[in-house]
Amino acid sequence: MSRPAVDELKHQIPLLGYLQAHAWRPARTLSRGRCMGLCPLHEDHKPSFLVDPLKNLFYCYGCGHGGDVIRFAELYHQVKFPQALALLRQWLGLPPLLQETTEFYRLQLHRHSEAIAYLYQRGIRSSEVIEHMRIGYAPGGCLRGWLTELGYSRLALREAGLVTAAGNDTYMHRVVFPLEGNLYGRSLSASAPPHRFLPGTKGGLYAWAQVRRHPEVILVEGLFDYAILWQAGFHNVTCSIGNQLNGHQYRQLCDSPRTVYLAFDADTNGSGQKAAQSLDCRLRKQGVNVRTVVLPEGHDPNSFFAQGGGARQFQALLEAAR
Ligand SMILES: [Zn+2]
Repeated sequence: MSRPAVDELKHQIPLLGYLQAHAWRPARTLSRGRCMGLCPLHEDHKPSFLVDPLKNLFYCYGCGHGGDVIRFAELYHQVKFPQALALLRQWLGLPPLLQETTEFYRLQLHRHSEAIAYLYQRGIRSSEVIEHMRIGYAPGGCLRGWLTELGYSRLALREAGLVTAAGNDTYMHRVVFPLEGNLYGRSLSASAPPHRFLPGTKGGLYAWAQVRRHPEVILVEGLFDYAILWQAGFHNVTCSIGNQLNGHQYRQLCDSPRTVYLAFDADTNGSGQKAAQSLDCRLRKQGVNVRTVVLPEGHDPNSFFAQGGGARQFQALLEAAR
């Protein structure tokens, strides 16, 4: 597991939530949201275990152990670092099969120039954003062999939607982005349907755990919009993956006071702007501070940047948003 993937896992698991799920209860609260309780790592008789939920760190004044959620899992379950990661991933409910598939696609990306060329053409040029989003490529042909070697049955792959009845890779010739519990694939070829998902929900807002603490959040429709904004330094961006939000995504946007900038597509058929308008109304009724970003006609955030727009111009669009 790469360093950014480890960091992401830590972001996704609030230490306090993990402790509480393991029956830990705070005995008293201190300033800045910190709390003390009995230490789950040694036989403790007075509360000596300190948790800082904002920093996602713990420290025990009794046994001297301290660290992050991964360190806690190591000590609590008495396992080594890789097993602790595996346990945490399992606890998160990320199906291991999707993890393996994601890793496989990631390895393929840099071996296939057509995939890199496609990303380049969409303005995705920094290896940092490729790492951050764990972008991969499905060249077609070898996924099934790889996964069966890891012990997955052909039936399991078929049921997950990763291979077709004929045994081919469902995501063949697509750039693949892992979501929580799903995969999004963008076709390289204009003759195939552009978007593909596995059966099941698209999940919550993209990378929400990383942006939800920002007082201002930019919401875009597509993962290529997300990628290009993130690459341009707008790290307070999230994505609904399509312009219709599901109930979970909608509740996430409303879960605390914040300003939401809607930067949906200004496509010629008007569907992005219509969706933004209706979402704007619904969010305002919930007391969310909403600003609708107006992009030049025919553009989405991705094409705006890919065709020469810069961070400063986009910032001006944010400031002009009403
Ligand atoms: Zn202790």
